[in-house]
Amino acid sequence: MVGNTQSVHLSGVSLIGGKESAQSGRGFRASHPADGSELEFTFYPASEDDIERAATQAQEAFRGFASTPGSVRAALLRSIAAKLDGAGDSIVARAHLETGLPLPRLQGELGRTTGQLNLFASVLEEGSWLDARIDEAEPERTPLPRTDIRSMLLPLGPVAVFGASNFPLAFSVAGGDTASALASGNPVIVKAHPAHPGTSEIVGRLIQQAVAEAGLPPGLFALLFDSGIEVGRTLVQHPMVKAVAFTGSAIAGQALMRLCSDRREPIPCYAEMGSTNPLFILPGAMRERAAALAQGLQGSITMGSGQFCTKPGLIFLPEDLSETFVEALRTGIEALGQHGMLTAGIASKYRESVQRRTDEGRAKWVAGTRTNTKVTGFAGYATVFSIPLAELLSQPDLEDEIFGPTTLLVHYGRQGDLLSAAARLHGHLTATIHAIEEDLGAAKQLVEVLESRVGRILFNGYPTGVEVCHAMVHSGSFPATSDGRSTSVGTRAMLRFSRPVCYQDFPDEALPSELQRSNPLGIMRLVNGILTRDRQA
Ligand code: NAP
Repeated sequence: MVGNTQSVHLSGVSLIGGKESAQSGRGFRASHPADGSELEFTFYPASEDDIERAATQAQEAFRGFASTPGSVRAALLRSIAAKLDGAGDSIVARAHLETGLPLPRLQGELGRTTGQLNLFASVLEEGSWLDARIDEAEPERTPLPRTDIRSMLLPLGPVAVFGASNFPLAFSVAGGDTASALASGNPVIVKAHPAHPGTSEIVGRLIQQAVAEAGLPPGLFALLFDSGIEVGRTLVQHPMVKAVAFTGSAIAGQALMRLCSDRREPIPCYAEMGSTNPLFILPGAMRERAAALAQGLQGSITMGSGQFCTKPGLIFLPEDLSETFVEALRTGIEALGQHGMLTAGIASKYRESVQRRTDEGRAKWVAGTRTNTKVTGFAGYATVFSIPLAELLSQPDLEDEIFGPTTLLVHYGRQGDLLSAAARLHGHLTATIHAIEEDLGAAKQLVEVLESRVGRILFNGYPTGVEVCHAMVHSGSFPATSDGRSTSVGTRAMLRFSRPVCYQDFPDEALPSELQRSNPLGIMRLVNGILTRDRQA
């Protein structure tokens, strides 16, 4: 048993309607990834009755919350952020025990989490995100008069959020999905990830407190535990749940997508399912900075033990210029020790996938420690494989993600072949091009191809590390995500949980204040096709 969590008491039960639910089912414990030992506190799966209460109370909360002014929601998000900051030491300590992630990484992630809550709050305070549009009546228009038509975005209803294992804070209970769903006016029911239930409970209790102190309905937030998949499956099929946000594996994400579309009332399922993030090194860049590229890529492939959905797992390099690069990467990778991983399942899946790639001989082993080398705790060793471009084209499954510190080098000959290969790639979250001036023509052609497949294209950078800001897009065509028109990071994430509603010929006092003639909130609106803060529309 690994030590205590700075005197935090955890109840281990689901949190619903501002209260603790009863213990039910078979309890489970989190494990410490460094040695696999069981951690303190037992957690109990939500019962069917818990799910029913969470959904019903979320629906009740939705009625009032949907029309709260942005300022009220902003205050809630800022209060949650302040509470997380205040409890930072306990949160980080428990997250460290449950994930094995280094303390500085978790402290940074906490900052990112509170930063994103505050960023969404600022968007609400500014107000224009609602996309208020007004087309004033034109009674004199011929041949037909025009009526008064106004529209804006409104929330969908209760959102089910699945916490991700690899970001126990920023993509979990108070992460981007929760923040964006609350910001756009929706109650949230979180299915805690079973790998960090204690962290989830500490954060969930703070959200509960913030909701209560704001005088908002307690059903606005619920946290459900489960060590398996039944709670999540039941939750997304509940008729009162109106949208789903998920980050994790393709298998789980696609199962949830099917459940959402097979419902009597299908609902949107925003699933972020991982990616191999192709990176293209063009000849000029390789000639000019092979060693620096190898060093940069080594860092990006192994950062967070390769457990990032933005890890570059497919690197295209010019075959006749790659010797220095490959040698530098091989030397760097082989000097590394074992990489700690998040869960027993992720570590064993990583080692099995690498072993299969080795045994099958479809790709050549380039670097890394053999998978049968003993590891301590949940861990694996970094590996590098390579393949000629033509062989990737004939075995497209090699493009699929292996979650962990590994990458596949793809050697290309002619640039025309590289373009054809890029055109055959499936959807990914990111693509990266390394180029110097002489490569810009080829880079431009690549960009044209990649724009239809990925959500973010980087120039001379590394895709790991996703800034939370207004312009960020963390998305991509299927199978990277279920809906490449949206993003799960950045303030556009709010749009996933809203829909436009139009009011025709309404008396002014019956309109939402955002659409009233005097523009009482002073927000930017599109009035008769012109963006304005005008107060007389
Ligand atoms: P996961 O297997 O996708 O699980 C994520 C969450 O979904 C967990 O709460 C899980 O519950 C639930 N779940 C799994 N299958 C489900 C199903 N059929 N129906 C309903 N809910 C389901 O992710 P993980 O356990 O964190 O890691 C496993 C693999 O996911 C990794 O090896 C990696 O390939 C991928 N992954 C991708 C990302 C990414 O950024 N896209 C992040 C993390 C992991 P239980 O755990 O209780 O089964």
